Amino acid sequence: MSRLEAENAASQLLNKYGIDRLPVPVEEIAMWEGAQVVRQRFEGEQSGFMYREGRERIIGINTSSGRRRQRFTIAHEIGHMTLHLQDPLVVDREVNWRDENSSLAVDPKEIDANAFAAALLMPQDLVVREVRLAAQRSDLSGRDRIISYLAQIFDVSTSAMSYRLINLGIYS
Ligand SMILES: [Zn+2]
Repeated sequence: MSRLEAENAASQLLNKYGIDRLPVPVEEIAMWEGAQVVRQRFEGEQSGFMYREGRERIIGINTSSGRRRQRFTIAHEIGHMTLHLQDPLVVDREVNWRDENSSLAVDPKEIDANAFAAALLMPQDLVVREVRLAAQRSDLSGRDRIISYLAQIFDVSTSAMSYRLINLGIYS
């Protein structure tokens, strides 16, 4: 699966539910897709998991990470649920797409799930629109301020937003 295919699957899901408002209601999407979202404080590095059996789908989220990170993890697990139909259980240690040393960064399924999550939470057309609007505002001067403003309205971490802007070719 290419990065584009994973991103397209996320766009299709947003279209399916007619979502064009921000922030993207990721937990509702999980529920509409038939998953129960379970929050738990896990020990260790586990960030989340996706489990399915028959019609049952459970997305587990570690509450020891911040709220915005939890949203990314939910989106990432929806990615596994949508893209990796053969896997009954996926356990994620740490959804850290920036860490080049992480094994997650080289596992194709993790790359898919991260591309899916980024596209679900930060749809390209909405990012482009908001970047244009932000650029017209005199109170948002400088890259860091724009990134933190965008992170706020998309309800994602600033690092997730920076990475998305680079991937979309908006920033280098
Ligand atoms: Zn994963």
